[in-house]
Parts: sequence; structure tokens; C-alpha cells
Amino acid sequence: MRKRKVLIQKIERASYVRRLTLEDKTCAVCGKKFAGVKKRRYCSRACQAKANYERHADQYRQARREKYHAEQKAAAGKK
Ligand SMILES: [Zn+2]
Repeated sequence: MRKRKVLIQKIERASYVRRLTLEDKTCAVCGKKFAGVKKRRYCSRACQAKANYERHADQYRQARREKYHAEQKAAAGKK
């Protein structure tokens, strides 16, 4: 057997402060005004999830439909 080489790595955790400028933003889903960093588009997790769902609505609906039919089929098969 070959001798394995071991890499010794010293990891030091650094703590630092990030300064992010907050901007006045308007939520793309509910239209509420909020302060957020530049790339933020939604006021809350809920709005973010909603927007994400809307973006892939057909995909989600289809996956759900398929799951439902698979469950129905499995239930029918048991009887
Ligand atoms: Zn919102």
C-alpha cells in the first residue's frame, strides 16, 4: 500500500465586520417600504418565497400534481 500524504492545514477563523449600506426599498411582492441592502428585493422571507413560487409556479404545480396522482395510484393499489 502506498503511504498517504497528509496535508496539515491550519485554519484560523477570522471575524470581521461588514459594512453594508441600507437603502430605502419597495418590496416587489407586497409593495411595502423597507430598508435593505442593495440586492434585496423583498421585505420578508414570506415575500421572497412567494416570488420564488410565482417564478416557478408551473413547475411546482406539475410536481405536486404528479405526487398527488402517484399517491392516489398507490392508495388504489392497496385496496
Ligand atoms: Zn413584501
